[in-house]
Amino acid sequence: MNRRSFLKSANLAGLAIALPPSTFATEEKKALPGNPSPNPNTILLKDYRPRSLHKVPVTQIEKAKFPIIDMHSHPYPKTEAEIATWLKNMDEANVEKTMVLTMTTGKEFDVNYAKYSKYPDRFEVWCGLDFSGHDQPGFPDNAVRELKRCHDGGAKGIGEIHDKGQGLRSGKSTAPGIHPDDQRVDAIWDKAAELRLPVSLHVADPIWMYQPMDKHNDGLMNAYAWRLDNQPNIVKLPGMIDILEQTLARHRKTTFVACHFANLDYDLAHLGEVFERNPNLYADISARYAETAPIPRFASQFYAKYSERLVYGTDMGFDTEMYRITFRILESRDEHFYAIDQFGYHWPLNGLGLGDEVLQRVYHDNAAKLLAARTG
Ligand SMILES: [Zn+2]
Repeated sequence: MNRRSFLKSANLAGLAIALPPSTFATEEKKALPGNPSPNPNTILLKDYRPRSLHKVPVTQIEKAKFPIIDMHSHPYPKTEAEIATWLKNMDEANVEKTMVLTMTTGKEFDVNYAKYSKYPDRFEVWCGLDFSGHDQPGFPDNAVRELKRCHDGGAKGIGEIHDKGQGLRSGKSTAPGIHPDDQRVDAIWDKAAELRLPVSLHVADPIWMYQPMDKHNDGLMNAYAWRLDNQPNIVKLPGMIDILEQTLARHRKTTFVACHFANLDYDLAHLGEVFERNPNLYADISARYAETAPIPRFASQFYAKYSERLVYGTDMGFDTEMYRITFRILESRDEHFYAIDQFGYHWPLNGLGLGDEVLQRVYHDNAAKLLAARTG
């Protein structure tokens, strides 16, 4: 059944506008391996693979509706052939350009740069920060010097820099106990502003990692493996958001892109307040698709309200199927589907059905504006 006849038969013609073509198929059912009918009381949460029972529209979106700038990826390919595959997949998915967040400095950065700078229209190479000697008197002058060297060597931004509560980290380089709002790193963020390098900054981690590992934990299917609730000496999520805000206030000329909705995907209203207080902040939506797809109405309202502050990102490899599930979540209005093997959550997902204007901004225009500000 094609889209037109489905909509006609379901008397939903009013929904036809802006909806990508849907089919009316239920998701494919394959036999479970092993025992065909185990006692359900013995099925573990980790093995639970529900399949949607609803006969509702299933939308296949091969290509994003508008060209994309992917603001959050990493140098996943190990060979030239894999880079060629990535480029082919980007073409198929309508990804115009990808930020390769290398998290590296020195020779490692140079090696990454040599690989990706062959495709200047398709990849940008971002550098990391060198936190070595963070407890020595020469810090951060040496880090600033290395940042300048990477910039002169072609780095177009800085990232991904992490602080999950223990202090700053850039790949293997760490500064334990030094958070982004620390005056010891002021000179680094100021240099970033001077060189017009945006900073991709990951603070905290998903909320379920901090909550008790019990039957009430909504992210329990992942929580125990990633738990942070048993680490008393870390700054917890609200504290890291305060640190993010302090950093933004101390460095108004520096543009920060908070990774993964700043891990406030569970409390988008709070992220909205952070946006309103801090004009130098964007947030990428990478690797938080399954977290926002369970709340499609609230999430799509948030996207509409802050459509000028959100940028597309992936952070999940470079398969075409990976890109496509992000399109299904952002563009379609599909309901109650699962993508457990992609995301690791058992939550049923829903399309957000974002409008064209919002999609265009999030997929492309906000990133284009942010990147153009470097030369303006
Ligand atoms: Zn990442």
